[in-house]
Amino acid sequence: MLDLQTIDSTLAQLEHRRRTLPQHAEINALKSALAATSSELIAAETAVSDLEAEQNRAEADLEPVRDRLARNQRRIADGTVPDPKALSSMVEEVAHLQRRISDLEDAELEIMEQLESAMATVQELQRRASGLEGELTDAQARRNEAVAVIDEQAAERRAEREQLSPLLPADLVALYDRIGTSHNGVGAAELRQRRCTGCQLEINAADLGTIAAAADDEVVRCEECSRILIRTAASGL
Ligand SMILES: [Zn+2]
Repeated sequence: MLDLQTIDSTLAQLEHRRRTLPQHAEINALKSALAATSSELIAAETAVSDLEAEQNRAEADLEPVRDRLARNQRRIADGTVPDPKALSSMVEEVAHLQRRISDLEDAELEIMEQLESAMATVQELQRRASGLEGELTDAQARRNEAVAVIDEQAAERRAEREQLSPLLPADLVALYDRIGTSHNGVGAAELRQRRCTGCQLEINAADLGTIAAAADDEVVRCEECSRILIRTAASGL
């Protein structure tokens, strides 16, 4: 019975270790960092496409102004404007168009600078996301490895348990298993130094007397946690 209890305690510890592997927290943290980076990336990509559209609009605004300037300059150069008054107003318009183009180009340049910085942000976020993905894959692999080691150890313990439990009285094992369902899989505890090692409470003198008087094959249980108490030489009876 003590061997069975030892195996089941080990199984409970393995299950606890499996649940509380540090990789679980690491993976969760990486997943939320990755989710945050992904939404930042979406926002940055939206900013890039907005600025690209703005740049196209700025370019489209420039086109007719440049065409008009080129046409005027051509006409001034080839001398097809006969009227000096018309010519002077055309020269004036050229100056005006040049100023307008310069303003529009300044505005476009500013958009292009913003676009460049937005694209750099996208690249930076892509680098960060792929770094996080790599870390996540790595953490998941380490978690899987740790889980596999624990599962292997648990499988060994279960195999031992299967060998052991037929050697014990069937009704005792049944009682042990029944108690175990509400006691983390461990339905018995060693009585050591007058203490139940399951709930760690000291057995009172009256109960100790009853236990000491019980026959060796009689099942005694802890009054506090109701586990089967296993009596050994170290029980202090
Ligand atoms: Zn107890």
